[in-house]
Amino acid sequence: MTAALVWFRRDLRLTDNPALSHALNDRQQIIPVFVHAPEEYGTWTPGAASNWWLHHSVTALAAALSKRGSRLVVRCGSSIETLRQLISQCGARRVYWNRCYEPALQRRDKAVETALEDLGILCFKFNGSLLYEPGSLQSGAGRPFRVFGAFWKACQRLPPQPEPLPAPRRLPPVAPDLQSVSIEALQLLPRPRWDAGLTQAWTVGEQAAAARLAEFVSGALKDYPTLRDRPDTFGTSRLSPHLHFGELSPRQIFHAINQWQAVTPSAGSIRATEAFLRELGWREFAYHLLHHFPQTPDRPLDSRFEGFPWSRDYLDALRSWQRGRTGYPIIDAGMRELWSMGWMHNRVRMIAASFLVKNLRVPWVEGERWFWDTLVDADLANNTLGWQWSAGCGADAAPYFRIFNPILQGRRFDPDGTYVRKWVPELATLPAKSIHQPWVAGAPTLRRHGIVLDRDYPPPLVDLSESRRHALEGFQSIKTSPRKLPPGRVP
Ligand SMILES: Cc1cc2nc3c(=O)[nH]c(=O)nc-3n(C[C@H](O)[C@H](O)[C@H](O)COP(=O)(O)OP(=O)(O)OC[C@H]3O[C@@H](n4cnc5c(N)ncnc54)[C@H](O)[C@@H]3O)c2cc1C
Repeated sequence: MTAALVWFRRDLRLTDNPALSHALNDRQQIIPVFVHAPEEYGTWTPGAASNWWLHHSVTALAAALSKRGSRLVVRCGSSIETLRQLISQCGARRVYWNRCYEPALQRRDKAVETALEDLGILCFKFNGSLLYEPGSLQSGAGRPFRVFGAFWKACQRLPPQPEPLPAPRRLPPVAPDLQSVSIEALQLLPRPRWDAGLTQAWTVGEQAAAARLAEFVSGALKDYPTLRDRPDTFGTSRLSPHLHFGELSPRQIFHAINQWQAVTPSAGSIRATEAFLRELGWREFAYHLLHHFPQTPDRPLDSRFEGFPWSRDYLDALRSWQRGRTGYPIIDAGMRELWSMGWMHNRVRMIAASFLVKNLRVPWVEGERWFWDTLVDADLANNTLGWQWSAGCGADAAPYFRIFNPILQGRRFDPDGTYVRKWVPELATLPAKSIHQPWVAGAPTLRRHGIVLDRDYPPPLVDLSESRRHALEGFQSIKTSPRKLPPGRVP
């Protein structure tokens, strides 16, 4: 047996981990390694909520490895230097890892590979986080797909997903003299501690991810097509942070969902399976787009939007939005949910993003950055797609003139106001008919409920129809030139 490093990154699990399984199949004496090098993420270093999750996820991985007789070696510093050092300390001749797809991390990985190969080290790389390798699919014209429907159809024509790989039962021990820093030393937890809401909302790690998947499949999945848009229920899986950190693979989800469908065959279960897998498909599409258009976390895909007349003086409006004080209860509920638990329901993400970009005319990158710092599932591909979609400047985006009306959206998707009551407690006693627009209830009614507008809850930050008109005028000013999309990196 020769020594080999298994370099854990965005694959913090033992089940269905191709790098780990291949290293074991190759009969290697494996040394599991985690290297903390946030500066290697370029301008998108992980935010505070992500770091909180990472701390707990690495802790859970370390515990799972030691239960099987191994040990996670944790180090801090440049990946190239750290891996080189480890190789010289343990005599490893091979390094195994699962690929990352963020542009900065791809560049980092390429540099690592070149440096290690110069030392005569063999590098083995796998796809551990996506159903389909980005770059492997192209349209009939040989171009990257820009329309989700066509992309997803092409994915479904590909061979079926292989079965997930089992977790190893036992792992070889790691020599005690191979030094590791403590996970606390990575300083991932916030100072001062503001993470009580996150701790209350989430259990982190591979085991928790598997439990959440099982709970979703046996519970909410059957109603997913009808309840997935309702923030007032537990209608979605909440698997996004587990998926982002690779505590479970999309392949495990794919098989769990299909197995459920096979044992509960009905038109309803087929519909639910298709609807849910389609959302996983959006995740695949996001990675496909990031691969072909690596500039899009910072630049609009549709270059006409480079010249959009954003509001010049938007800091106060941005701050009100961030703090959940826009005066539109469904948005404020979402922004407070985000602040408290590091997550927001997808429907509310769309409403809140549309409001920021269109009604407040704040540049979409400001919203993208705020989500990046506050979401536990912050994901460069998905966040970029979500914001460019909302702003109307991405691939297959919402047309610019589609501007969500937060009052109508609230009434439709939170009809009793349950969601608003939970996150905006100062409005909790208002009746359903005024909870999505408290100002129309009139001062005397509001007073009866203990609310004085401006003192307890803000009046609307902007008038919806006037701000909508300004947004559409802004769009008219850039619309004169035809829609311009770059050709994209050809596979
Ligand atoms: C402005 C905006 C920003 C977003 N930022 C992120 C982000 O940083 N990270 C992130 O994971 N998702 C992001 N999303 C997509 C989506 O909101 C979340 O993936 C979803 O809310 C996660 O909840 P869930 O796991 O319960 O989803 P479910 O409905 O249970 O879906 C299952 C999985 O499918 C994937 N998925 C679902 N919807 C989408 C979508 N629209 N785009 C891409 N993948 C999707 C996710 O991995 C999700 O976990 C964003 C959406 C918007 C509108």
